[in-house]
This record gives sequence, C-alpha cells and structure tokens, in this order.
Amino acid sequence: MGLQEIEARLRNAADDAGRAPESVDLIAVSKVQPNERVEAVLRDGHRIFGENRVQEAAGKWPDFREQFEGISLHLIGPLQTNKARQAMDLFQAIHTVDRPKLANTLARLAQEIGACPDLFIQVNTGEEPQKAGILPADTDAFVAECRTLDLPLRGLMCIPPVDEEPSLHFALLAKMAARNGLAGLSMGMSGDFEQAIALGATHVRVGSAIFGERDYG
Ligand SMILES: *Cc1c(COP(=O)(O)O)cnc(C)c1O
Repeated sequence: MGLQEIEARLRNAADDAGRAPESVDLIAVSKVQPNERVEAVLRDGHRIFGENRVQEAAGKWPDFREQFEGISLHLIGPLQTNKARQAMDLFQAIHTVDRPKLANTLARLAQEIGACPDLFIQVNTGEEPQKAGILPADTDAFVAECRTLDLPLRGLMCIPPVDEEPSLHFALLAKMAARNGLAGLSMGMSGDFEQAIALGATHVRVGSAIFGERDYG
C-alpha cells in the first residue's frame, strides 16, 4: 500500500510485459480522499491525479495548484454537458466521452476556447445497462464521429464488470483501440492494474491502493 509500492509494482509489471515503465502513466485517483493524504502524495513528487466529479475537483485542485507545479488532472467520472466548460478548464484529460451529445458539446467549446483536453472514449465493454459508455459494436463509428469533429482523441477507456475476469475486457479494449489506430488505453484499477499493463494499458487509475480505503461516511 502507498505510492512507492504501487510505483514498484507498476515497474515490475511493465518489465514483465517487455514494456518501458514510462509508457504507463499512473493516475492517482484522489476522489473522496482527505486533503492530507493527497498532499502527502504531492509532496512525494507525484503529479498525475484522477477525480470523478467536476465539483469536487473544482473545490480542491486550484489550491493544490498554487502550492505544487506541473499537476496533471484527469476526469474519470461521468460528465454532464452543462459542466463541460468547467471540466475543460480544470482537466488535462477527460476519460469519459460516452455519447454523441457530449462529443458535440466538447467540439463546440474547443472551437471557442481554442484548446481541448486529451480525450478518451469510455467503452461499456461488459454491455451493462446501468453503466455509461459506448457499446463495443458502436465504438468504431463513434471514433470516426469524434475524428470528424476534430477532437483530440487519444484512446479508449473501460471499467470491467465487477464480477467478471478483467483481462477479457482489457484485451477487447486493446483490440478495439488497435484497429482504430488509437494509442491510449485507460484501464486497470487497484485490483487489476498489473493485468491491464500486461495487456497494454497506457494509463492505470489507482485509488485505494495508493491512498487507502475511501471513506464515504
Ligand atoms: C474510483 C475509480 C478508480 C479507482 O478505484 P480503486 O479501486 O480505488 O483503485 C478507477 N477508475 C474509476 C473510473 C473510478 O471511478
């Protein structure tokens, strides 16, 4: 548990896969964590963080940014179109582009602002009705649509169903990214990031294994 241990495990997993450790970005998922824990990880020199709510991120990251340089913030939770502009100001990457309406809004705002965070399409690899994301069968068409909109599309993202073998979902996502010429793969969390690295993850999203359990109390 803790940043150093997770960094070491990440390096080992990359070595085992014959990959350079630098080819995997460790996103420290700080949602719901007390500020002291986040600050400790910042003091250890880590700079890539993930949040899943725009409001929560807006409440804590401007202060951290005044104290620490070079922070890269990734949105890994659902984005409502009415929060898109705020999200584009706050985040360097958005991993949850999950519907045409959001893609259109991001494209319009990118024109206005003259910049856009790196984007990942969330794919609902398990085809779970309650989960956000583009269905696998619709993904190629949606990638093409995002490209028509001139969006800076970097890759695909998935959250496997809790009760299924994650490797199957990671492999499926990697295959879809490859056939669409996308280099980015946002996959793997505390329980399965090593498997994700073995299957090509470029961004792993690790929360509780770095910070400890989240307290939603
Ligand atoms: C919370 C969250 C994570 C981190 O989960 P852990 O199991 O704590 O590592 C990763 N990805 C997404 C999309 C999340 O919402």
